[in-house]
Order: sequence, then structure tokens, then C-alpha cells
Amino acid sequence: MKSKDTHYEHAEHEHAGHREHHEHHDHAAQRVPSDPALQVLALESLLVDKGLVDPQALDALVESYEHKIGPHNGAKVVARAWTDPAYKARLLADATSAIAEFGFGGLQGEHMLAVENTSAVHNLVVCTLCSCYPYPVLGLPPVWYKSAAYRSRAVIDPRGVLREFGLQLPEETQIRVWDSTAELRYLVVPQRPHGTEAMTEEQLASLVTRDAMIGVAIVRPPQPGEPP
Ligand code: FE
Repeated sequence: MKSKDTHYEHAEHEHAGHREHHEHHDHAAQRVPSDPALQVLALESLLVDKGLVDPQALDALVESYEHKIGPHNGAKVVARAWTDPAYKARLLADATSAIAEFGFGGLQGEHMLAVENTSAVHNLVVCTLCSCYPYPVLGLPPVWYKSAAYRSRAVIDPRGVLREFGLQLPEETQIRVWDSTAELRYLVVPQRPHGTEAMTEEQLASLVTRDAMIGVAIVRPPQPGEPP
């Protein structure tokens, strides 16, 4: 009985210590009223408190996704494929290592497949199960990519979905839908637009959009008056 009381006291003491610690965090959190932000803060402080994550590692991760990782990475890969036939051959044969030539890889990009759009075939990427996405080349997925509507309808009615994205493909163009998984992620290599023959690789990269690399858009040539 005595030992039980002692144990209880010990637990109470520990709990009080934790409460004090959390109150300290609560003051900082008061400035962030939105629920998801609060949940993230709470989760972060819990993980840091438990020693499960290093706050510096978290900062580095956030910094990476804000500045280093994004569709501009994939755009560089596509522009290289457009201008260097040998690179394109390597990309289509083994996308993971061809993408790694740029230093892009790692988390959710371990196994990549590049699929090329032609006048005969248009490729569209979806994850029907959840939201598998090639982070190293495209960054964070757009909200619609994770929506139930896109995930189900991209497979059932890809042409209709593309039309809603403003993309009307010729009837004779075949649409191939690729279902991403944790094992394999896809990068669409869009068609190089006409009238871009004189553009540099860097200028070409600036034309390539995230949506074109998912396959819900095509790459448009630069409009008259627009800087190249
Ligand atoms: Fe998924």
C-alpha cells in the first residue's frame, strides 16, 4: 500500500512538471489560432520533448521544402531531356539515377519512372490509394491531387478530368493513367512546345509547370510579349 502511494506521488510530481513545461509552449501558441497550425505545433513540441526529433533537423526539413525542393527541380530534368537526347534516353531507361545526376533524390523519390508524352500518348499521374507523389522533383502535392474526387475520377474518366483542368486532347490521343504507389512514383515528360527551338535549357525549364509534370496540363509556348 505504501509503495503504491509513493509511486502515485512520484507520478503526480512528474505530471506537474510536464504541465508547467507545456504552459510555456502554450504562450507561444496563442498567436496561432488555426487548428491545423496548433496541432502541428503541439506535435512538434511533443516530439522534441520526447527527444524523437532534433529541432534543427526539423528546421532544415522545412527550409528544404520551402526553397530547395519543388517543381523547379522537375522542370530542370524535363528541360535537359528536351535538349539532350542522351540524357532523355537515360531518363526513360532509369529515371531514378538520371534524376540523381542533378542531386535530386531521397524521400519518396527512391523509385522513379519517367513517362513521355507524344502526339499519340498523353500520360496522367494519380495515386488512387492515398497521395503518393514524387517529392524530390515536384515538392509538396497540390490539395486537389489528394482529393477523393481526383483520385477516383482520374481513373474512371481521365478525359473528363483533363477537360476540367482546361485541357482538351484530340480524340485520337490515347490517355495512359499511372497509379503511383509507395514503390514507384512517376514524372511526366511533357512534349516540348513548338516555337521554342532557340530557347536555352534554362529558359525551357521556366516553361515547365508542376501540372504538366503530373499530366493535367501541357507546356505552352511563351506568349508574345512575355519574357522568354
Ligand atoms: Fe499514395
